[in-house]
Amino acid sequence: MPRQRITLKQPICWSEYSNSYCLCDKCWSCKRKTKYDNPLLALQSARLASFRAKELIKDYKCRYCDGYHIGRVHRGI
Ligand SMILES: [Zn+2]
Ligand SMILES: [Zn+2]
Repeated sequence: MPRQRITLKQPICWSEYSNSYCLCDKCWSCKRKTKYDNPLLALQSARLASFRAKELIKDYKCRYCDGYHIGRVHRGI
């Protein structure tokens, strides 16, 4: 196995590396959000959240995990 260079810009993902608790960008962005396995459920939740918060909240497919999350549009996803 080749040695991996660890740079500050791309911190190692401990979750993938040793299956332990990890706070890298990837894991953190998923963990602090609700994960939806069903895109329809995410869509419904996004609509409900939009209605409650009175701002636009969209559902989106996560590029890190296999699920879906919802988030405010203006803050970027
Ligand atoms: Zn990680
Ligand atoms: Zn995710």
